[in-house]
This record gives sequence, C-alpha cells and structure tokens, in this order.
Amino acid sequence: MKEDYYEILGVSKGASEAEIKKAYRKKAIEYHPDKNPGDAKAEEMFKKAAEAYEVLSDADKRAKYDRFGHAAFDGSGGFGGGGMNMEDIFSQFGDIFGSAFGGGFSGFGGFGGGGQRRVKGSNLRIRVKLTLEEVANGVEKKVKVRRKVQAEGVTYKTCPTCHGTGQITKITNTILGRMQTATTCNTCGGSGQTIDHKPHGADAHGLKVHEETVSIKIPPGVEDGMQLKVAGKGNDAPGNGVPGDLLVAIETVEHDTLKREGDNLHYDLYISLSEAVLGSSKEIDAVGGKVRIKLEPGIQSGKILRLRGKGITSLNGYGSGDLLVHVNVWTPKVVNKEQKEFFERMQNDENFAPKPEKSDKSFFEKVKDMFS
Ligand SMILES: [Zn+2]
Repeated sequence: MKEDYYEILGVSKGASEAEIKKAYRKKAIEYHPDKNPGDAKAEEMFKKAAEAYEVLSDADKRAKYDRFGHAAFDGSGGFGGGGMNMEDIFSQFGDIFGSAFGGGFSGFGGFGGGGQRRVKGSNLRIRVKLTLEEVANGVEKKVKVRRKVQAEGVTYKTCPTCHGTGQITKITNTILGRMQTATTCNTCGGSGQTIDHKPHGADAHGLKVHEETVSIKIPPGVEDGMQLKVAGKGNDAPGNGVPGDLLVAIETVEHDTLKREGDNLHYDLYISLSEAVLGSSKEIDAVGGKVRIKLEPGIQSGKILRLRGKGITSLNGYGSGDLLVHVNVWTPKVVNKEQKEFFERMQNDENFAPKPEKSDKSFFEKVKDMFS
C-alpha cells in the first residue's frame, strides 16, 4: 500500500502550490543525503518526498492523483513502481533545495550510479488561449515550439577541468580543520562534458534551433493564469543531460453570453412579458452545446434556474459545476394604444397585484443559495 502524497509532505489536500513547495523543500533538506550519509531510511524518505512533490507540483498530475489516487500512474511508465532515482531528483528539483547545500552534493557519488549530476536544459514558455468551451471540456492543443536540440553529428568529451564530475572540489585549511567545498564546474556548467565536434550552425553547446509540433493535453477546469508542464519539451542540455520542460501558461477568452464563477456558469436570459405570463420554451447556450429549457407560465423575473452538471468539469475531478440561468422579464418601453388600454384596465385587477410567496425568495436569499 503506497502512502498518501499529501501525508508524505505533511500538507492538507487543499494546500496551495507555494505550501507544497515549502513543505517539499523542508523534507528534502531534512532527508538530504549530504546530511544523512549512509542512512538508507533517510534516502527512502528523500525519494518519497520527491515523488510526492513531482505529482503535487504539477496541476495535471495532481488532478489525476486527486481523482484516481496512485492508480492514476500505474502502468504509465511513470513512477508507479520503482519511484524516482536520485539523479532525476537532483536534475529536476535540485534548484529548490540546492541553495541550502551551497550548490554541491558532496556525498552524492554513492547514489543513483552515475556519480555526476545530470544537467537539465532550460525551460521554454508559451501561452495558450482557450475558449470557455475548451476549458469546460478539456482540449488537446498542438503548438509549434522552437526548441534547441543537440545538432546532428555533435560529439562531446569528458570535461578536462573537472574530469567528468561536473564539480570542482576545493580543500581549505582553517582553524577548525580541513574544509571541503564543492562548486559547479565553470567549464562544463556541471554536465561533466564539453563539446568535442561542433557541426556547422550549432551553438557553443552543440545545440541547434529546431521547430517541433508539441501536443498539449489540457484537462477540463483549468483557470486563467494556471501553468501546465510538458516534461522534456524544453531545450536539450548538452552531453548526456536531460531536456528542460515546456511551461504552458493558460489564458482564457471571455465568452459572449456565459460568465464563469468557480465551476459554475451564469447565463442571463431575457424573456418578454407575455412569455412570462404564458410560459415558454427557450434555447440556452451551454458549453456542451445548446440546451432547451421550459419556463412555466407565471415565472417571476429574477428567478434562477439551476441546470445541474451543465457547468465546468472540476479540475480535481469531483463532478461538474452547474449552469445558473437568471430569468429577466423585459418590459416594453413603448406600447401602442391598444396595449396601453389593456394595461390600464389591468391596473386595478386583483390578478395583476404582486403577491410574493415564501417560495419567491428575495435576491439575498437566492445569492446565499447559490453559494451553498
Ligand atoms: Zn567540467
């Protein structure tokens, strides 16, 4: 039985991105291999925290996890089985907790096999504009990305400065004894490799710009300003490094008639006085297409009709919001002689006198209901 990711990091299910990052940083520092040399239990905890953070820091993965639990990642080639290795953890999250260790990982050689830290390529950022329909139903977007990839024919060799370790170790004698500090090698930038053969058109790292179409799966329920991550679709790193990520900023376009509020949608419906009196049937724009609704004879202006489940699919996977149709009775500004006479006759008619019932809630009660 796998432990709950929220419990591993010690945060609540509703924790914000910042809280999750902070909690992870704390755990990573507590169980860092430099602090717990040779402690298998600490290493295990260090890996578990990284796995939890990998999922909870990614809106898409977190939503899947909230919905399906660990089953969401089984068999996907992700970390359903073996967890993350130390190399991945340092290359992906090293910048989050690295500063607490002066940038070096002195005790790191014993973990993960390779010894040196794999350098990660830089991230790329793009914006994607979504309509309300796309937000509501989720969408797959294909975008053209200009990413730097290793040029054809490029070769790398072991860095002569650090001899492939990616680090420069300095030993200083102090009054407290010999101090060993490790810093990233300036020659190779920590990758442990430098360029050997540079093909024509490649930059100093052996990289070349290449246009690629990337498919981005956007889950339903995203909000303006959110960021999704497509792992590995950023720039390549030189040598045997891992590519950076493509960070996708979500921008939403306002809808003509539907207004979003959380996972609910609001629609203002205008009907005529006669439709209000006689009843009617109306077609409403909804995110899944048109919806027909029935208006009972005698419907009051200000009535809110709730169409359950016709709102936005929740990002956390727990159902959908509703579509709230606000009924507004349109009063004619000008009437002809015949109409005027009719309404004058009705002025003292008992049937036209307002008689609000308990069920005709006040505006404030309706608003209260909407949020309950
Ligand atoms: Zn080097």
